[in-house]
Amino acid sequence: MGRLGVVSYHSSPLVEPGSGDSGGMTIYVRELAEAMARHGVRTDIFTRATGDQSRITELSPLVRAITIDAGPASLSKSELPAYIGEFSAGIADLTEGEGIHYDAIHSHYWQSGLAAKALVERWNVPFVHSHHTLARVKNSHLASGDVPEPQERIDGEKEVIRSADVLVASTDDEWDHLACLYGASHDRLKTIHPGVDHSLFAPAERAAARAQLGLRDEVVVLYVGRIQRLKGIELAVRAVEQLVGAVERDVVFMIVGGASGSGGDGEVRRLNELVTELDLESNVRFMGPQRHGRLPAFYNASDALVVCSHSESFGLAALEAQACGTPVVGTPVGGLSYVVRDGESGFLVDTRDPAVFASRLKTLLGDEQLIQDFRVSAVRSAQAFSWERSAAEFIELFNCLMTERAPHLCTC
Ligand code: UDP
Repeated sequence: MGRLGVVSYHSSPLVEPGSGDSGGMTIYVRELAEAMARHGVRTDIFTRATGDQSRITELSPLVRAITIDAGPASLSKSELPAYIGEFSAGIADLTEGEGIHYDAIHSHYWQSGLAAKALVERWNVPFVHSHHTLARVKNSHLASGDVPEPQERIDGEKEVIRSADVLVASTDDEWDHLACLYGASHDRLKTIHPGVDHSLFAPAERAAARAQLGLRDEVVVLYVGRIQRLKGIELAVRAVEQLVGAVERDVVFMIVGGASGSGGDGEVRRLNELVTELDLESNVRFMGPQRHGRLPAFYNASDALVVCSHSESFGLAALEAQACGTPVVGTPVGGLSYVVRDGESGFLVDTRDPAVFASRLKTLLGDEQLIQDFRVSAVRSAQAFSWERSAAEFIELFNCLMTERAPHLCTC
């Protein structure tokens, strides 16, 4: 495996995650490329140009982000599919003009999969695709008031599923969804878990982390991620309301991240109104998006991370928290069932009842020995995941596809 072409049409590796289109997938694409570079693999990540970024940005010696003009700088989610053809043609023109050959293509999210399909038909190289999220899964777990994913996306996903040599799922649940909800052939499916950067996300002294954020001995509950209906943050706010009445210390709930998607601004407004209605203005702090490198201080300062999502592709924030030794109280969605050891490193709550969330949070606050045990278990649980491991599994897959060209031989 020498050179990999990565297609990330709508989500740019150049944009800091935490709001808009930039979240877990951005981290995934960036971290996987960096880890593969440590194995000597060169990666070019192609993304749609959305402003006056330079054509080529070197993210590290073997990893480049390359922007391709396709449509106007600013496009809504529903306008994006119209420019996929132009985007693929732009990648082909640029790379063929410079005589660059890729050993394989890896695409992320369905629109990138369609762009990649056109390229692999032209270049006849192995085609690996990661969906990250699936419309049929999202639609079957829709929050009340949320807008369903359109049929166009489901059709696009089906086309990518028919075309890719191998579909990589982040969890066995996603593997099942691809097989059962989309009829993907089992011998073209492979599960590879994402990882976490242990050199960044590691336990650190809590008092110092708190001082950095202007916190003292309050109960600190944290949410990290983009703000959209799917993330179910209302449930966390309602749980915090109950916690405020149940403990004697001050309670702070930090919401880190910004609005995302067409309903994102509306969701931020709705949550602000809820905070006012519940009289929680002195407890809930909207911190806005934070640089990824700053997040260890937030995790290390907190008593618990809450994840109340209706569905998740994996839930990298939960893994990052556990790597810092911070317990997670969350719904059993995406990778949380793999990352959080229920009753040992956090709690998985299979109901959307705020009282249950509040009571699990309270359990974590009372007993110092229990908290220490949870912290040790959280770090141990996170050790099972690393980008090194994910990269090694991807490289093995790509090497196999390059020599065998028979996907089913590479997925068992
Ligand atoms: N993130 C960040 N800054 C923020 C909010 C989030 O760097 O202000 C990162 C967070 O550390 C995590 C990612 O964005 O790596 C969110 O990933 P997750 O899988 O939790 O959610 P997704 O974005 O995939 O829905």
